[in-house]
Amino acid sequence: MPIAHVLGVPRIGPNRELKFALEKFWRGEMDASALHATGRAIRLENWEKQRAAGLDFVTVGDFAFYDQMLDHILLLGCEPARFGFADEDALTRAFVMARGQARAENRDCGCGRQGAAHNARALEMTKWFDTNYHYLVPEFSQDTDFRPGAERLFEEIAQAQAAGFNPKPVLIGPLTFLFLGKEKSAGFNKLELLDRLLPVYGGILARLKKQGIEWVQIDEPILSLDLPAEWRAAFERAYHALNGAGPNILLASYFGPLRDNLPVAIRLPVAGLHVDAVRASEELATVIDWLPMHKVLSVGVVDGRNVWKTNLGAKLERLRGLHEKLGPRLWIAPSCSLLHVPASLAPEDRLDPEIRNWLAFADEKLGEIAILKTALEHGRETVAAALAANAEAVESRRNSPRVHDEAVAGRVAALQENDAHRASAYREREKAQQARLCLPALPTTTIGSFPQTPEIRAARARHKKGELTDAEYRAAMRREIELAVRRQEALGLDVLVHGEAERNDMVEYFGEQLDGFALTRYGWVQSYGSRCVKPPIIYGDVSRPAPMTVEWIAYAQSLTLKPVKGMLTGPVTMLQWSFVRDDQPREQTCLQIALAIRDEVLDLEKAGIAIIQIDEPAYREGLPLRKSDWQRYLDWASRAFRISASGVADATQIHTHMCYSEFNDILPAIAAMDADVITIETSRSDMELLHGFGKFRYPNAIGPGVYDIHSPRVPTTGEIRQLLEKAAAVIPPDRLWVNPDCGLKTRGWPETEAALANMVAAARQLRASVAGSA
Ligand code: GLN
Ligand code: ZN
Repeated sequence: MPIAHVLGVPRIGPNRELKFALEKFWRGEMDASALHATGRAIRLENWEKQRAAGLDFVTVGDFAFYDQMLDHILLLGCEPARFGFADEDALTRAFVMARGQARAENRDCGCGRQGAAHNARALEMTKWFDTNYHYLVPEFSQDTDFRPGAERLFEEIAQAQAAGFNPKPVLIGPLTFLFLGKEKSAGFNKLELLDRLLPVYGGILARLKKQGIEWVQIDEPILSLDLPAEWRAAFERAYHALNGAGPNILLASYFGPLRDNLPVAIRLPVAGLHVDAVRASEELATVIDWLPMHKVLSVGVVDGRNVWKTNLGAKLERLRGLHEKLGPRLWIAPSCSLLHVPASLAPEDRLDPEIRNWLAFADEKLGEIAILKTALEHGRETVAAALAANAEAVESRRNSPRVHDEAVAGRVAALQENDAHRASAYREREKAQQARLCLPALPTTTIGSFPQTPEIRAARARHKKGELTDAEYRAAMRREIELAVRRQEALGLDVLVHGEAERNDMVEYFGEQLDGFALTRYGWVQSYGSRCVKPPIIYGDVSRPAPMTVEWIAYAQSLTLKPVKGMLTGPVTMLQWSFVRDDQPREQTCLQIALAIRDEVLDLEKAGIAIIQIDEPAYREGLPLRKSDWQRYLDWASRAFRISASGVADATQIHTHMCYSEFNDILPAIAAMDADVITIETSRSDMELLHGFGKFRYPNAIGPGVYDIHSPRVPTTGEIRQLLEKAAAVIPPDRLWVNPDCGLKTRGWPETEAALANMVAAARQLRASVAGSA
């Protein structure tokens, strides 16, 4: 009898109930007890679904008001001292650590407590492995202490038990918790904290046992990473210490194969192991060979990272053998937590029914696990109808003409080496572009978007509801574009943008217009805290039935004599921020998108647009978890970018933009994209990051961001000039551009205009001094 369970489920609520409650609470429109009630309701509904699906446990501890790593900081009592917490409750602490506390609140607070607690920067946030989820980064120093902290986990367990559920709590493992944290003092290795941390975990496990818990799931996803030897060795020690302290431990690894960590993982003194049988299916046989006789194996057969229906027939074939071998020691589950997929297909009433029938979101994945369990337990015939329906859906997807477009496949197959290269080298292109554009030294520009004002958002909402006709909406957007152009002219910027007023989102906007993409109405996935994204679904061969941006950009260009930059999202970012089909390599899908973007680039060029920016903010995110897999990815990713960009004449200037701060380890691959100009985020690091570009001798032009658009603060001309001087010391001034860090859509117009005015002034000052010294 196989045990069926899940590693975790979405917590934002099927209608984003948690998001709206959090935002109300932060605005002071809801009190803590109402927020807690919302959390409780979401958990109960999730547990009810798990029980209804026939799972053997309900998972507890996967809920968080903001983030699960943050909750572990509280659970383990290691809030950084800089927050100066005294008697605040756990919820208050959580939100101060997650969101920081504004200086403004500090001014007259009158509480008598100095500084820290009321003037604290939020914890840093970073991506959870290769997902689009962001966790809050624990901070560690020599002085970090651990002690029994927040009670919520134990309360949630009691709550589940009181409601008649059989809970299996989940914890983030001690090694993953430490590994993902940041060392805040020099000359110190966070692994030294393990001995201090383990007794606190031991105490938690003992309490769980006292609460009557039989199994606890401990997540150690770092087992799918390249681990330093000392970290790998520490696993053995840690789990020796924890084994026997409490309930049976199911150690969960996910997001990739174990590879060199396999021997360690499999020998750990724990009662069971969970493996990701979707991303590491080829490793399953080895795991089973090596698995000690007494251990449980939880096989993650349903893809927790994607939205496609599982081929249940094929999985059952595989599981049948395992079941014979392992008997009751076989557990089945999704590959990882379902946090990374939308909650339910049920409300998707506008999805094309054929495509909808190919999909499974979190609720439907629970159903799949239930079918597999029943089939193994009572025989396939007991779920014959469900299996037949599943087989039919799988078959329909495999053969559908909606998925396969011979013309697209043919185009990809026909790609030649020179399709991925500009006609001339950068040096020659630069001359042709300069002759055409006549830009001053240190040209000024922006990254694309201008403030998405309440008026713009209202117009879009009314258009969606049918209250504005297409023509009325178009006219409203044209007015916004004209306004943006006039403001940029008044500011004296050299290269203008149209401002992206007509775009809801940089991926969705294109996804809506490309064939092969489907958009959901409610397919929200948590990104961090209350923020959610709604990734498009790439179900079929991608092509561009008609131009997507030409009319807007050409209109903007018609208003001014200054060059207007065309603005597109690049193929790697489109891929990275979507759910991608799993029936062909990602690389293939990326090439198809690249060709669609290439068509758009060429149409913009034909319409007289001299500069085209192809944004790739997600280029780095696509890096595989294991370093040995990086180069292969970077090769196809940079090629896809070049295919999108290389159809144009020498005199057309291609820009790209990336907005994160770690590129030094992939500089050769960024150079391999061969954009004429790259704009990047650097202001927050005080231009430190540029040294990498300087040392590497980045060959083309660079626009290091000279001010941080994430903050409403208006930088002074002096500050910007200082940053520019630092940049000019590293990058030859004839290849230096002047621009903010990223797009301005989240800002308001007054601060945007003030900051850009200072930016233009700083550029002019430096231009004069560069000219003077030349
Ligand atoms: N062109 C986009 C904008 O300005 C780029 C956004 C991004 O880098 N994420 O909004
Ligand atoms: Zn950006």
